[in-house]
Amino acid sequence: MHITNLHTHTFYCDGSNSPEEMILAAIENKFHSLGITSHGPVEEENDWNIKKSNIEEYIDDVRSLKEKYKDKIQIFLGMELDYIPGTGFSDSCLSLINRLDYYIGSVHYLGKLKDGRPWTVDYTREELTQGIDESFQGDIRKAVERYYETISEMAIKYQPPIIGHLDLIKKNNKNLFDENEAWYINAVENCLNEIKKTSSIIEINTGGIARGYTKEQYPSNFILQMIKERNIPVIINSDAHTIEGIACKLKEMYTLVNDLGFNSLMYLTKDGWKKQKISYY
Ligand SMILES: [Zn+2]
Ligand SMILES: [Zn+2]
Repeated sequence: MHITNLHTHTFYCDGSNSPEEMILAAIENKFHSLGITSHGPVEEENDWNIKKSNIEEYIDDVRSLKEKYKDKIQIFLGMELDYIPGTGFSDSCLSLINRLDYYIGSVHYLGKLKDGRPWTVDYTREELTQGIDESFQGDIRKAVERYYETISEMAIKYQPPIIGHLDLIKKNNKNLFDENEAWYINAVENCLNEIKKTSSIIEINTGGIARGYTKEQYPSNFILQMIKERNIPVIINSDAHTIEGIACKLKEMYTLVNDLGFNSLMYLTKDGWKKQKISYY
């Protein structure tokens, strides 16, 4: 089985380690390939997206490491790009796509606060509830539905190679909404039906459980069941921000997808995307 992880962060955005340290950790974990995916640039710079002034250095760094370690591991240059509701990927993100081996399309931002600052669904619970109050008049259901519609919009408009952490909105949920409610299941179903029309792969992301934020991976088991029924391709990634997290819960996910009845996982090669049977390492 080709062991891979195509969602990792480094000190070029909000990760703790250098790309080289992440690569060495991947080699230690017997990965066959590794993708580095810095958070892409945004208009209003912050602490977790890459600074526009660092983009060229990031690209050069990952490309030279790709060459340096080519006999030990296949390295892919990627980015995790932010889809902005109603706008899409920024021009600076769009201009980067052709220079990358692949990218992950993610929705973190869902609106703007009254003071003009963009807010994200995954930073703190306080920011999430303030955002829902100020952008959706406190209507949680509307905010969650808008979140899934935004993912659908992104899938239809760009068909990202990978769609990141599908149900990220649950990260700060606690008791804001119930994942078992019919309206929630319906919002997810509508989103999956749109993704099914595209070539996008949905990632199974262990970042939330690895960092203790969520009990289950993204997306939750019942959503994985719905993905399987629709035969949408999946890949397993750890969304690691440190060398310690690079392989976190990956083995458990191989067992989980096997138990849920998935037949295959996707992986990236120099010749493009391929499917593989699930086995253990
Ligand atoms: Zn993300
Ligand atoms: Zn990420």
